[in-house]
Amino acid sequence: MNLARFPRIHLAHLPTPLEPMENLSRELGGPNLWIKRDDCTGMSTGGNKTRKLEYLMADALEQGADIVLTQGATQSNHARQTAACCARLGVDCHILLEDRTESNNDNYNYNGNVFLDHLHGATTEKRGGGLDMAAEMETVAEKFRSQGRNAYTIPGGGSNPIGALGYVNCAMELITQANDADLRIDHLVHATGSAGTQAGLITGLQGMNAGVPLLGVGVRAPKEKQEENVYNLAVATAEKVGCPGAVKREDVVANCDYVGEGYGIPAPSTIEAITMLAKLEGILLDPVYSGKGMAGLIDLCRKGQFERDQNVVFLHTGGSAALFGYTHAFDF
Ligand SMILES: *Cc1c(COP(=O)(O)O)cnc(C)c1O
Repeated sequence: MNLARFPRIHLAHLPTPLEPMENLSRELGGPNLWIKRDDCTGMSTGGNKTRKLEYLMADALEQGADIVLTQGATQSNHARQTAACCARLGVDCHILLEDRTESNNDNYNYNGNVFLDHLHGATTEKRGGGLDMAAEMETVAEKFRSQGRNAYTIPGGGSNPIGALGYVNCAMELITQANDADLRIDHLVHATGSAGTQAGLITGLQGMNAGVPLLGVGVRAPKEKQEENVYNLAVATAEKVGCPGAVKREDVVANCDYVGEGYGIPAPSTIEAITMLAKLEGILLDPVYSGKGMAGLIDLCRKGQFERDQNVVFLHTGGSAALFGYTHAFDF
């Protein structure tokens, strides 16, 4: 895996820290919990999309783009990080926001990530929930092209083989950090959505033969569908980085028991996880992704899924800006 072959623009603060969570580990009675701080990637409050955008924005500029389009849910962290990267690189940014929750809460619709999209100078337009957002975006991109613009489209979550390179890179970074720290990682856990993070990680881990089992905690799709999405993208990513066949279907594992009522709707366990991390570790999770991912990890610890002396790393994928779109979900 020679990632230097692919065009990249350095946008993230890397490597992100790998830190122990001693208080949470003690509270749960083991295992030893660690956190990989991809919430600290730097651009506009950070998050996992910035690693993907290092490769996606390089591709956009190589193709001479003067406007980048992407799409996501109203409180999309991907949209916000894309807006910030476009601002840094002097490219226009246009975002389609899908109303997946039908919330009429003002903070949800205008604060948090939506506020930051606009602060970075991106233009936005809304769509009702359940549309084919990829098709909607292509229609809008064609409109820009007919006006003479060179429009580059980034899929939702930045999840294609180019974006997934960012998480192949993260897997290499994490294994190097663990090696330097003499840390034997027994499990790696994170929130999985549009699949690029998990697909990139599993490609990197299997490509290195790292022997680290990976668990994605789902936030939307049922288990079978989520695993299928991740697997398909991982196969394409492994081909791209030159290790075709590195990822087997059984390497892709998702647990989708912590979604609650649906995408973007925090479950009681989500709120508990966010509150625990804030109070025990001083760390901000988010109500859509990392809060559900951590709820899954906490529950699996309580159920004795891991040995007490094992080292389990939680990849913090960011999203704290969305908290300000969800203040109504906390009763204090
Ligand atoms: C997008 C996102 C995820 C999920 O990553 P995917 O690559 O879409 O699976 C997890 N956490 C946060 C905070 C995100 O914004």
